[in-house]
Amino acid sequence: MSGSIVSRGIAIGRVMRIEPYKPVGLIKTEDTEGAKSLLLKSMTQTSEELNALVDKTRENVGDHEAAIFEAHLMILSDPTLLPQIESIIEHDSLSAASAVESVLSSMEDMFKNLDSDYMKERALDIYDIKKRWVKNILSPTDNNISLSSGVILVAEELTPSDTLELDMSKVEGLLMEKGGLTSHTAILAQSMDIPAMVGCGSLENLTQNTMLILDARQGEIILDFDDKILSDYQKLKEEEAKEKEALKRFVDVKGQTKDGKRVEIASNIAGIDDIKGVHENGGEGVGLFRTEFVYMNRSSAPTEEEQFKIYKKIVEGLKGKPIIFRTMDIGGDKEVPYLNMPAEPNPFLGFRAVRYCLQDKNLFKAQIRAILRASAYGSIKIMFPMIGSIRQFLDAKALVETCKNELKSEGIKINDVPLGIMIEIPSAAILSEEFAKYVDFFSIGTNDLTQYTLAVDRQNESVSELYDYFDPAVLSLIQHVIKVANKTKTWVGMCGSAAGDPLMIPLLVSWGIDEISMASSQILKAKQIVSEMTLKPIEMEQIMACYDAKAVRALFT
Ligand code: PEP
Ligand code: MG
Repeated sequence: MSGSIVSRGIAIGRVMRIEPYKPVGLIKTEDTEGAKSLLLKSMTQTSEELNALVDKTRENVGDHEAAIFEAHLMILSDPTLLPQIESIIEHDSLSAASAVESVLSSMEDMFKNLDSDYMKERALDIYDIKKRWVKNILSPTDNNISLSSGVILVAEELTPSDTLELDMSKVEGLLMEKGGLTSHTAILAQSMDIPAMVGCGSLENLTQNTMLILDARQGEIILDFDDKILSDYQKLKEEEAKEKEALKRFVDVKGQTKDGKRVEIASNIAGIDDIKGVHENGGEGVGLFRTEFVYMNRSSAPTEEEQFKIYKKIVEGLKGKPIIFRTMDIGGDKEVPYLNMPAEPNPFLGFRAVRYCLQDKNLFKAQIRAILRASAYGSIKIMFPMIGSIRQFLDAKALVETCKNELKSEGIKINDVPLGIMIEIPSAAILSEEFAKYVDFFSIGTNDLTQYTLAVDRQNESVSELYDYFDPAVLSLIQHVIKVANKTKTWVGMCGSAAGDPLMIPLLVSWGIDEISMASSQILKAKQIVSEMTLKPIEMEQIMACYDAKAVRALFT
């Protein structure tokens, strides 16, 4: 089986499949009365589920996210909806599922084709209701909302909104057919410390409720096993848990090598829920706050005030630990439907991140103003994603200056906020010495730097074997940036996935990196590696002479 390990570990549990919507098509029935009664019953069930979801989401996530399901309830309770569906059951002798699908699909199409952005967004809501309602007609007892514990989720792909609906604390492991190393599912699995593999290709053979062992250390799915294999894996799992327990001694240890080189070991976060993990794992701060998550799973952009409240809560939650806000990196794989960004043939090479923000200045300013306002409550830095030229950085910086001046004239207190860039486009790495004249800091984003240096889509499982930050070309850019940063006394961190890789950490530290930022679940291991190492010379010539990434890895394994 192919697939990439995105979160290491062993999981033992039953398969829980999350199926994508499969159209039912036009199925006729002679029992129209039976179909109508099924329609009513399933409508009640759908409405009860949505009510429960509103409450659960409000309690566990927040009011804003709960509003997604409130909107679904409003559409469902439209007094014209039920008669419309009943009427086509009667006149066209359609089954309940076909009738629901037919009416809701027409509504979906109608909304999609309207000019108003607001109306276009409603199409997504209608799709969601259709999916739920048809499922409740066809398999009313197959309740994929409440998971029993000990499940291994198997899906084509899990969207961020799917995860709102699922109780992830009951999930032992994750297997996705699609998705790459740095997809959202991957980031989520890492931050929740759930063993996971993505980009596995067809997983059709993993049927509902099958017991399986997921060995996300070796990249294996074990289906047929006897008691001996099961008990061996159970033992391994216990050992893993013990190892994790033992690593807790590093929680309050600062990142420092045996010979005294200080390296900050920080967390990547996507929102307020991740703050607990920062403290529990002894993160020394936040090296990357992916703020675009604040914009996702909603039907309109968050206002400046809404953002300010969220950012202030996060900064205060960090209790003095520093945080780097990465301005929104929307586009690429991070879709924000309400912005109606044009569909693109190559989204990762397109209208993404700062490229979009510099065009939609009102949206960008609302975010910058909110971050600057939150700066009064803690230690904040701002960095811009996908910077490819000095001009882009200067334009973004000018916008920050405008916001600062506005806030000052409004009498709002702000603190000093250093401005930096992500180095994730090769042009920025190559020009890092020039950039160092203008920016306050660098943070190397290896997830994108790898895809752009090697021309390998980070999400595409067909080329995932070529996607490796141990490639000599990628390592040479990383080493160059760190060397330049040290020479020009520019603070340099790394927030891409390479920063949390035990094999990579000794190289980064020996080259002179100031900070490494990773999923909180990786911090304790990183602290152990840094505390037990001394700086060592790394022969670049030896790396550059390697034929591929595999050969470079072999040098350090
Ligand atoms: C990166 O590209 O390395 C990075 C940290 O940003 P993202 O994964 O959010 O694109
Ligand atoms: Mg990136």
